Amino acid sequence: MSALETLTPPKEGQRIEINNGRLTVPNQPIIPFIEGDGTGPDIWRASQRIFDAAVRLAYGGKRRVVWFEVYAGEKANKSFGSWLPEDTLRAFQHYVIGIKGPLTTPVGGGFRSLNVALRQLLDLYACVRPVRWFEGVPSPVKHPEWVDVVIFRENSEDIYVGLEHPSQSPEAKKLIEFVRKEFGWKVRDDAGVGLKPMSPFGTKRLVRKALRYAIEHRRKSVTIVHKGNIMKYTEGAFREWGYELAREEFGGQTVTWDDVQKQHGGKVPAGKILIQDYIADVTFQHLLTRPKDFDVIATGNLNGDYLSDAVAAQVGGIGMAPGGNISDHHAVFEATHGTAPKYAGLDKVNPGSLTLSGVMMLEQLGWNEAADTIIKGMEKTFKQKVVTYDLARLMDGAKEVKTSEFATAVIDNMA
Ligand code: NAP
Repeated sequence: MSALETLTPPKEGQRIEINNGRLTVPNQPIIPFIEGDGTGPDIWRASQRIFDAAVRLAYGGKRRVVWFEVYAGEKANKSFGSWLPEDTLRAFQHYVIGIKGPLTTPVGGGFRSLNVALRQLLDLYACVRPVRWFEGVPSPVKHPEWVDVVIFRENSEDIYVGLEHPSQSPEAKKLIEFVRKEFGWKVRDDAGVGLKPMSPFGTKRLVRKALRYAIEHRRKSVTIVHKGNIMKYTEGAFREWGYELAREEFGGQTVTWDDVQKQHGGKVPAGKILIQDYIADVTFQHLLTRPKDFDVIATGNLNGDYLSDAVAAQVGGIGMAPGGNISDHHAVFEATHGTAPKYAGLDKVNPGSLTLSGVMMLEQLGWNEAADTIIKGMEKTFKQKVVTYDLARLMDGAKEVKTSEFATAVIDNMA
């Protein structure tokens, strides 16, 4: 893609570069952001203050993010007559790492989704969702402190790729006729039909990313979650390819559940990461009843979608779950909830999801001290029961604060 046409980049700061397969992060990286629609500006303002304060505190002025606003959604439509200007895509591509608030999905067709466009342009093949509990945050389960998982959801394959035709359409009829004739498959004449592609390439790069993360962050296990008992050549193959990758590329660092039982007396040898697999439906049960069994999870697109939201609900729900869409180098971090339009401009909603997405972003930059500073501030704030309305209504003795006041409390608690 070519240079920016309508946007002027900041005069200060430098671009993050990719050199020899690694990120080179300057002390003043330019980071494009989209504040988002609805409550987006509220949670962006609060989160940005937290990010800047944490970086200042951690590096005493030596490092600083140079923010570069780019546009999508309603704001872009008003200013540029487009829901998704090309320059926004160019900026995310050029500056490598970016962050975004929630965007309105216009009703009716004919527009391009930013997430889909970015995912395709930058090949953001892993959707990463860390889920942990903060002490004090209300939860529907007895032991939310047992939940500490990072879900790596494959983002580019599976039933989600949109290869489908509606019931009764000429295309669906043609496809049904084809598979009936060629493979002897029985599909009802009036069925809608879709394709579920899953490949060794797509699976292995996802599992590789999950394993690298587990190694770098000293996690205990990587669980491959699949529905291979029913869909053998897609979900079942995902499991096989996952194990194959672990064996081929991480043989010295991993140990399978089988080997632990047969060769190591049921104990994972020190320094090794357990690689195991679980059927998806059992995973839903066990994440509820014995979440300690899970650490890093690698799974397909559909399973990952459901699992991420289900486990997020266990630790405080929608206002708190961060996410990142990541390729080998490019990454876009985002609030995982929507625009919550009825609260727009009220300075009311929880900025936690976007703030924690920023924590993931700082970790991606290698600025772990700043990331840890924010976590420390949030931990202390929740312990003090200083929370926004969504959590206050579920807590006894909470002090309900506005979005901006929550940010101030987090900043005060970071020192
Ligand atoms: P939503 O915006 O996620 O809001 C649904 C409910 O979730 C809110 O009414 C609120 O519940 C709670 N909630 C959401 N964000 C919160 C926050 N930061 N703090 C506390 N509570 C929060 O879902 P929606 O109303 O279905 O969607 C609205 C728009 O967002 C649509 O245009 C949709 O397409 C879009 N959307 C965008 C994204 C994205 O950009 N990533 C994702 C999903 C949806 P209570 O009212 O019960 O307090």
